[in-house]
Amino acid sequence: MIRNIHTHIPAKDAIRSFSFGEIHEAIHYDAPFSVGIHPWETNTMNCSVAEACLQLEQLLYRKNCFAVGECGLDKLRGASLKEQIEILSLQLALAEKTGKPVIIHCVKAFNELISLKKEWINVAMVVHGFRSKMQVAQMIIKQGIKLSFGTYLLSSPSIQEIYSILPDTETFLETDEQEPAEINKLIQFAAKLKNVSLEAFEKKIVQNTHTFFDVKL
Ligand SMILES: [Zn+2]
Repeated sequence: MIRNIHTHIPAKDAIRSFSFGEIHEAIHYDAPFSVGIHPWETNTMNCSVAEACLQLEQLLYRKNCFAVGECGLDKLRGASLKEQIEILSLQLALAEKTGKPVIIHCVKAFNELISLKKEWINVAMVVHGFRSKMQVAQMIIKQGIKLSFGTYLLSSPSIQEIYSILPDTETFLETDEQEPAEINKLIQFAAKLKNVSLEAFEKKIVQNTHTFFDVKL
């Protein structure tokens, strides 16, 4: 049962994200995971992007691999935006080929992301760790991209406002760099925001997550 779509810490009931630099660890991991070239490593890779994609593709066929990512665009770190777009495009092609959704890291590049989504209309995407504005949230969802919220939801009134008006089917929860067990606190808090019972809310979260990531556990 998966309720937490993005963590960097090992956990049985969450999707653990491996960067390309951690690919040797992903090979031996037997719980749910995702793998991709993180924007921050786009200028420090020790092999060509083509070679990296070949290695990624092999892992994407694993039955405990549920997504490509995190990958994406970051205007503040990593290679030039042009190079990042090329590297992300190659990973979107892999996602399309293997039928996997993509967990996206996006910093100050939502317009560029939306252009890519229009090109890769069949590739399911979720922007993780969303902490931008309401307008941005609505613009992204309109393009068919989902949003995932982390522990920032617990403390930010503006993020709480965004989360509470978005339909449950468009959002996910995650713990990212925090302890995976924090997902319990996050689910309880989110259920209260939505004004629904914890039990019903949790059921919905699991259902949405399993549908989007095609989890059959
Ligand atoms: Zn992350």
